[in-house]
Amino acid sequence: MAAVCVYCSSSNAVVDRYGDVAADLGQRLAAGGHPLIYGGGNVGLMGILARAVHDHGGSVVGIIPDALKSIEGVAYEVADELIVTNTMQERKRHMVTRAEAFVVLPGGFGTLEEFLEVLTLKQLRYHTKPIVVISPDGFYDLLEAFFEQLITTRFARESIRTLYHLVPSPEAALAYLDTYVPTDPGTKVG
Ligand code: AMP
Repeated sequence: MAAVCVYCSSSNAVVDRYGDVAADLGQRLAAGGHPLIYGGGNVGLMGILARAVHDHGGSVVGIIPDALKSIEGVAYEVADELIVTNTMQERKRHMVTRAEAFVVLPGGFGTLEEFLEVLTLKQLRYHTKPIVVISPDGFYDLLEAFFEQLITTRFARESIRTLYHLVPSPEAALAYLDTYVPTDPGTKVG
């Protein structure tokens, strides 16, 4: 079954509602036999997600840079595989290479950066893997409105709409991944 990379918040301070969504996603990944590839954290939604995958019999692969792993309590030490990298760049490269699909949960700058990187790589045709954004209660509405502004002002092509898919729930995200057919909406490299 295809490994799924999840990007999500490392914050322990977000309201429980988002934690519930992360736990729901973890349960569904385990039930669907999708190994979780993620940032290897034991904090915030990342920790909730990884624990939920394990609680439901799934497998967890964490990829974490040395500098973060050395901070007490940050790494999910009981991951089935914990890959420690020298840099953030190396870590992101491993995550992108090992995953067959990307899921974005609510998060902050780290999550946005990771989402925009896989989106950009897809736009440039470095990959054709599915990217699905879970936006509970319209969490990502403002980001989507900004993407529309990029299209209106011609900083992005209309085809960027097909690079990712926005859904309200983990259930809808998994349904999308199960039926995903790669398309080629990108800009030619070079
Ligand atoms: P943020 O959305 O700013 O909380 O950043 C979360 C994203 O960045 C995750 O998907 C991780 O890959 C990475 N990240 C940020 N902080 C940590 C951390 N303490 N431990 C592991 N990964 C982290």
